Amino acid sequence: MAVYVYRCPEHGAVELARPIGTAGGTEPCPLCGSPAGRVFTAPRLSFGDPRRRALIDRTERTRDEPAVVAAPPPRRPQPRPAAIDPAWRRLPRP
Ligand SMILES: [Zn+2]
Repeated sequence: MAVYVYRCPEHGAVELARPIGTAGGTEPCPLCGSPAGRVFTAPRLSFGDPRRRALIDRTERTRDEPAVVAAPPPRRPQPRPAAIDPAWRRLPRP
């Protein structure tokens, strides 16, 4: 199903869902029944989640504009050592 926009002389723009390719030039207005002419609009395409779309765009862009690495990545903070048991200090040293 696709959503087509029609303009009723009384109610303005109305949207009607019709199977793709079956939209006529005029359709009766669902509110008053008067003939409403079809209005051609830009298709409402959805590309899904914007973050996913940005990832796809970045991935496609690297094909022509690969990212150049100028330096190694910053070091991650080292994990803190496990807490030392004070009793271990009293153990004999080699
Ligand atoms: Zn109407």
